[in-house]
Amino acid sequence: MTLVADAVATYGERRERARDLGARLDFAEQPLRLYLALVDAQERAFEHALSSQAAADDLVAFVVRDALPGIMEATVAAGPERLAEAALLRFHEGDLEGIVEAWLAGEEQSGTDTFLARASASPVLEALPDLAATLRLGDTDDRHCPRCGGLPQLAVFADTGETLLTSQRKLVCSRCANEWVLSRMTCASCGETSGAKMPILSDVDLFPHLRIDACEMCRRYLITVDRRKDPRAVPMVDELAALPLDLVAAERGYTKIARNLMGF
Ligand SMILES: [Zn+2]
Ligand SMILES: [Zn+2]
Repeated sequence: MTLVADAVATYGERRERARDLGARLDFAEQPLRLYLALVDAQERAFEHALSSQAAADDLVAFVVRDALPGIMEATVAAGPERLAEAALLRFHEGDLEGIVEAWLAGEEQSGTDTFLARASASPVLEALPDLAATLRLGDTDDRHCPRCGGLPQLAVFADTGETLLTSQRKLVCSRCANEWVLSRMTCASCGETSGAKMPILSDVDLFPHLRIDACEMCRRYLITVDRRKDPRAVPMVDELAALPLDLVAAERGYTKIARNLMGF
């Protein structure tokens, strides 16, 4: 039985939020349309992984056989032409098991390979946390996922009814969607703790509940989703819609700690 943590919504909630934001935000319509196609395939992969309990030695084959075809179909149906073409080429000519294996091992990959492997494998890791733990990457500090060693995709303040001052900041893993607590005043990339070195940037008219947490020391940033300000927010979906904030960060020379599924 998998406990769905508070920052990590169900697939139904992710779908509903993507529809809602895609209808409201012109700039996010295209990536969220692709996301909506992917999320159906991801939900099927998640549920099948749960019911079949794939073993570690069968994981790569399971992902290629059970998840990747649906991801391919969604990408061709709803992705931008260049991505759809590149994905098709990889599907027919690439070493699919090698692509998934490399992603699981945290190796550098092309954008297309990262996209295909991540979209296919992450729902399986999310469904099988014990298995995700056996694939742990090297880093063991508190800026990496305590389960799989992945980098944080985003930060969340949960809508717990606590006061603004006491609520904890959680990070959500870019690989397995696990969440963990990191002190609010610590850079999620380099561990810097001086607030003066960590600018916060936002566009409160556009996204009252989102902000950029950047760091002058390592020049990295991530998006923080404040569910106290918008309880309907679904962090991993809202993060995909935060394109204008990503542009602001890029203009100032910051690089995201972990690019999201769409490559932003
Ligand atoms: Zn993880
Ligand atoms: Zn830093």
